[in-house]
Amino acid sequence: MSLSLHTFTQFENVGHSMRAPSYRFRPTCADEIQEAFRLAKKHELTVTARGAGKSYNDAALNGGGIMLDLSAMNQILEWDPATGLVRCEPGVTIEKLWQRVEPDGWWPPVVSGTMFTTLGGCLAANIHGKNNFKMGPIGEHVVEFTALLPTGAEVTCSPKKNADLFHGMISGLGMLGVFTSITLQMKHVESGLLEVHALPVHDLHEHLSFLFDHAPNYDYIVGWMDTMNGGKGLGRGQIHAANYLHGNEDPNPQKTMQLKNQILPPRIFGVFPKSNLYLLMIPFANNLGWWGVSTAKYIASLRKHIFRQSHAAFHFLLDYVPNWDLSYGRGGLIQYQSFLPKETAETAWREMIELSLKRGLPSYLGVTKRHRPDKFLLTHAVDGFSLALDFKVTDSRRAKLSDMLQEFDRIVLNAGGRFYFAKNSETSAASARAFLGEETILKFKKLKNRCDPNNLLESDLFRRVFD
Ligand SMILES: Cc1cc2nc3c(=O)[nH]c(=O)nc-3n(C[C@H](O)[C@H](O)[C@H](O)COP(=O)(O)OP(=O)(O)OC[C@H]3O[C@@H](n4cnc5c(N)ncnc54)[C@H](O)[C@@H]3O)c2cc1C
Repeated sequence: MSLSLHTFTQFENVGHSMRAPSYRFRPTCADEIQEAFRLAKKHELTVTARGAGKSYNDAALNGGGIMLDLSAMNQILEWDPATGLVRCEPGVTIEKLWQRVEPDGWWPPVVSGTMFTTLGGCLAANIHGKNNFKMGPIGEHVVEFTALLPTGAEVTCSPKKNADLFHGMISGLGMLGVFTSITLQMKHVESGLLEVHALPVHDLHEHLSFLFDHAPNYDYIVGWMDTMNGGKGLGRGQIHAANYLHGNEDPNPQKTMQLKNQILPPRIFGVFPKSNLYLLMIPFANNLGWWGVSTAKYIASLRKHIFRQSHAAFHFLLDYVPNWDLSYGRGGLIQYQSFLPKETAETAWREMIELSLKRGLPSYLGVTKRHRPDKFLLTHAVDGFSLALDFKVTDSRRAKLSDMLQEFDRIVLNAGGRFYFAKNSETSAASARAFLGEETILKFKKLKNRCDPNNLLESDLFRRVFD
């Protein structure tokens, strides 16, 4: 493939609230990535790798530079159902991966809340799942990867081989090199179903206590938080805690592991096409409408119950509603996810939610998880919890939101918290320095100099946070 600078394309974040034009290149092999680096150097342009573009912020945006769209490098290269080891190109999506391994009795050990992310993007952000407290981030399940560095070197990294690069590139937001193949260990499962316990929680204290006390008894735990209501019920919501089925708990595992029993149905009640469901959400995407939806959801959540759900239905809830992101309207949405130690989370999140309600900028969706720390260089995890908040963006809200999220950063930093680079769009260089620490920034910059001495790999996020 001969590359030229003629395809200027507008790229967006997943929430359609940020955009930047770039020259789009779609390599099909490592040699073509190499060629893109050569061209970038010749024209003094920067390069950003992009998987599926499912980041909430500017991690996969590169205004005026080259966008290396890796979606064509999407082959599963090797799959061994005896050991659960899989080797993939970086553009393989979580969807393609689970659909290949699940019928053989395996499941990816860590998945994001959407199945449309790519493995390259997942490693670069070092994603966490609803089992982070138990399984850690995806990086802990990477046996080996190969990557192409802007210097032209091809490297192979594992927890033992080139260990500094292994821990730096996973979580390194594509700023050190481009993953070209990824070997992952899958998790053996005995059934296509999970047993899910749905339980109400009535305030923030109960919410976090439940996550903390009960996580050890489950394989997965996640909370929905009603962030539209304050007062005594601030932090109320519903917990979903799930366990794998073992032995003969599932009388027909061959059947439940078949793809047709996992795949999300295209129609609701067999009639209404899901692809249009987001249209019904549009009238509610305002403060009053969403207050009504959240209140109704909370009331419906008050009934404790246990049910069985396919892995796909449990993990990829948002994929049930295609184009859900469009329901936020023209200005789109942003997400703010903070990670707080278990000791300080309650006070900090109370202050943040109260502030958002007071300013008339409530979050329409709050999702909580339980976490544990990990050893990756730009880690976002803590021994505590995370809260992801979705905010509607409009022209009139944009500046006020930005102000409020900077206030949030201050609260999070005072509480000893961390931020997630695949989500937050306001985190500044000063905030990043404060939570990562000088030593980590220095280590990252040393690796950057070694792998990319000409600073070819840059994204809008990199310029915002590290430049
Ligand atoms: C509905 C939804 C739910 C989500 N749920 C979760 C969740 O539960 N947990 C979680 O952790 N995250 C979650 N996310 C965030 C998402 O998992 C991350 O943003 C992930 O990085 C997106 O993958 P992608 O392939 O779209 O990458 P992109 O958004 O395209 O890129 C993300 C980063 O990866 C880099 N990159 C991409 N490919 C490569 C490569 N081959 N080599 C080097 N760098 C590369 C890019 O430069 C960029 O810095 C969710 C996002 C959405 C939209």
